[in-house]
Amino acid sequence: MDIGEKKVLLANPRGYCAGVERAVQTVEKALELYGPPIYVRKEIVHNRHVVQALTAKGVRFVEENEEVPEGATVIFSAHGVAPDVHTSAAARSLRVIDATCPLVTKVHNEVRRFAAEGYDILLIGHQGHEEVLGTAGEAPAQIQVVDTPEDVDSVTVRDPERVVWLSQTTLSVDETQQTVGRLRARFPALKSPPSDDICYATQNRQEAVKAMAPACDVIIVVGSPNSSNSQRLREVALEAGAGAAYLVDFAHEIAEEWLGDARTVGLTAGASVPNELVEDALGWLRERGFTTVEHVTTAVENIVFALPQELRAALRPAPGRDA
Ligand code: SF4
Repeated sequence: MDIGEKKVLLANPRGYCAGVERAVQTVEKALELYGPPIYVRKEIVHNRHVVQALTAKGVRFVEENEEVPEGATVIFSAHGVAPDVHTSAAARSLRVIDATCPLVTKVHNEVRRFAAEGYDILLIGHQGHEEVLGTAGEAPAQIQVVDTPEDVDSVTVRDPERVVWLSQTTLSVDETQQTVGRLRARFPALKSPPSDDICYATQNRQEAVKAMAPACDVIIVVGSPNSSNSQRLREVALEAGAGAAYLVDFAHEIAEEWLGDARTVGLTAGASVPNELVEDALGWLRERGFTTVEHVTTAVENIVFALPQELRAALRPAPGRDA
């Protein structure tokens, strides 16, 4: 074996998930259909490059509906919104296109169902994260957010026999199970979600990183600091045995000193990261002698989500007109 060989292990799957692909396409189609400016409430997905590129095309990102002119078009981000956000949009006569990922909508539906059945809901997730705010807003009186394992001790419920846990879609699978274990020790009758809330894309990206981490001196995760699933990839990489792990938005942020005398560098990207940013990182590494690229594939993804219904209806040709 050539001990001098420098190589990159490239995680597969990595980068865009079906929910992000759909959200970004939604904004692009809305721009084509209605022309700029298009308003997007919050970052459409948590990625600096995506937000900058869409801003350059005429998208205006706002924090709240109140910043959108009455009657204009607003798109809600992939992270989902609480029902009162729909109410305030209706009050301003906004044309709403809801790009909430269907897998986030699934968790909202679970909240509504369990709340209607009288459960106290323990939502494992990051306090203040947009997705958590939206999900908790479905039943604020019956939801408590459990952010850290320590939060488990301060949870109080009305009836320990009617408690269910749900979760944010982009958490660490292993950490979440630890938190669930602590919750179950306090509430033995704790009910689990009907199916995993941590989405397929989050799980698949973490599995790929786990598979390659023990062989990596360093792992570079391309993703933004406010991207939950990207942050989790960096943590999972370290827990799974990578020598070091760093999160960067862009290739130029990779520091030469991080590589040291590394021979094997792992590369992955969060679910909101377009492939061109991974290509840039590969190019940066190639320039520094990491010319061999080996793929570490742990799953093949072929999930595609249809565009939001409001947009599909608008894109449909009028009866009697050619497509
Ligand atoms: S990470 Fe998962 S939940 Fe979030 S947009 Fe992608 S598929 Fe949907």
